Amino acid sequence: MSNNFEFGIKKQLITKEELSKKVKELGEKITCDFKDENAPLIVIGLLKGSVVFMADLIREIKLPLEIDFIEASSYGEGTHTTREVKILKDLRSTISGKNVLVVEDIIDSGFTLKKILQILGSRNPKKVSLCTLLDKPERREVEVEVQYVGFEIPNEFVVGYGLDFDEKYRNLEYIGIAEPSVFE
Ligand code: 5GP
Ligand code: MG
Ligand code: MG
Repeated sequence: MSNNFEFGIKKQLITKEELSKKVKELGEKITCDFKDENAPLIVIGLLKGSVVFMADLIREIKLPLEIDFIEASSYGEGTHTTREVKILKDLRSTISGKNVLVVEDIIDSGFTLKKILQILGSRNPKKVSLCTLLDKPERREVEVEVQYVGFEIPNEFVVGYGLDFDEKYRNLEYIGIAEPSVFE
C-alpha cells in the first residue's frame, strides 16, 4: 500500500487554478441570478462527491443562504428498468417556498439527479435549479435540465476535488485521471 495520496494518477485534467477560476465565475452568475429573488435560498449538496466543490462555491455566492445535504445511492444494473435510486440520508430542512440550488459533482447517466429532482420537486419548493461541476454529455441516458455547468469533460473516469475511486482521491486539489491499472 503506497502512502502517496496521488499514487496512480496519470494526469491532471483540470488544475487547481482552473477549478478556482470556474467556481468564482459560477458563484458570480448564481449571485446575479438570485439576487432579486424574494424567496430564501437553500443550497443542497449531494453527498459525498459534491462537498469540496460546494464548500468553495457557497463562499462565492454573495447572498444569504442555508445549506443542507442529501445522500442517494444507485443500485442494480445499468438499464432504465432496473436502475433504482435510494435515499440514504434525507434533508434536515424543509424546502417549501424556497429557491433550491442542487449542487452535484458530476452528471453521468443522469439517473441520480432525475430522481433527486423528482423528490425535491414534490416538496413544494419555489424553484429548483441545478449546478454541476462536471458534465459527461456523451453518457447521458435520461434528460436533466442543468442551469450551471462548470466543465464538460470526455467520457473518462475522473477523481479528485471531492470525486472518489473506492472512497479515495477525494482530497486531490485538482481533477485527475487515474491509470487503468488502479481500477483492476
Ligand atoms: P448518474 O448521473 O449516472 O446517475 O451518476 C452520477 C454519479 O456517478 C456521480 O454523482 C458520481 O458519484 C458517479 N460518477 C459518474 N462518473 C464519475 C467519474 O468519472 N468519476 C467518479 N469519481 N464518479 C463518477
Ligand atoms: Mg455525485
Ligand atoms: Mg463515488
